[in-house]
Amino acid sequence: MISSIPKWVSNLFEGTLRTNAKVLETSYISSQIKKIRFQGDISKMNFQIGYANVLRVSETEYRNYTAAYHDKAKGIIDIIFHIHTNGVGSNYFDSLKAGDETYIGPSRGKKLYDPSVENQFFFGDETSLGLACSLLPLLKNNNHQFQFYFELDEENKNVPELLGLENFTVFQKNGSFRNEKWIGNLPLFKTDEWTNANFALVGNVKSVQVFRKVLKNKTQGNVYSQGYWLEGKKGL
Ligand SMILES: Cc1cc2nc3c(=O)[nH]c(=O)nc-3n(C[C@H](O)[C@H](O)[C@H](O)COP(=O)(O)OP(=O)(O)OC[C@H]3O[C@@H](n4cnc5c(N)ncnc54)[C@H](O)[C@@H]3O)c2cc1C
Repeated sequence: MISSIPKWVSNLFEGTLRTNAKVLETSYISSQIKKIRFQGDISKMNFQIGYANVLRVSETEYRNYTAAYHDKAKGIIDIIFHIHTNGVGSNYFDSLKAGDETYIGPSRGKKLYDPSVENQFFFGDETSLGLACSLLPLLKNNNHQFQFYFELDEENKNVPELLGLENFTVFQKNGSFRNEKWIGNLPLFKTDEWTNANFALVGNVKSVQVFRKVLKNKTQGNVYSQGYWLEGKKGL
């Protein structure tokens, strides 16, 4: 996905890329997790589970973020941002406050949810909390068996509960999800409940890749995966 464009291209499209959304309110769920409610014309946007919006974070740079909640009638989108302080996007959203205007591009991407499968398993990190929030109502309304696993920094360990998520286990972000043997001993592999589940893996690219490999070896389920960020890489 394109994360930056030359300034002259940006100028050329200025008409279509101008601000189209307003910040209604912001709140910090932890020192690193900020929820922002935007309002704009989202009537033509398609919000599938796994889709993301491209948001403008500087004159020439764009980043992907997921709607945690949307209401087309009211033109509202909530996005949950990981304020990791390493990047232009993180710093930009840290600075946004009620009344600011910004650009939110269309929603598009990769579907991660198959409603026909009864058991649904989800893995992610801070960047995936919004996706988990948008998925939860579907999992409940469609009577799925479901389980969330999150790898989170210590200061964010209470965030899933504060966001109202359910059936989650929080793991410390300490590199364990880079270790195939450790992953293979997780409780999920101790029963046959998850053998044919739908697996959605998002978040850190390396964690997603290793978890995916173990799932492919140990289960028959469908594994949908998408890396959301990679150490040293700008804007996936
Ligand atoms: C489909 C999709 C949906 C996404 N949805 C969300 C979402 O809802 N909320 C959200 O917060 N993020 C989400 N992301 C991830 C987000 O787009 C990236 O984290 C992005 O790189 C942030 O841009 P930045 O300008 O802050 O950092 P960049 O300029 O892209 O990167 C600068 C440095 O920061 C590091 N970095 C980037 N992200 C992180 C991170 N999360 N933790 C630690 N270091 C990091 C990079 O490795 C790099 O070294 C999504 C990504 C994709 C592809």
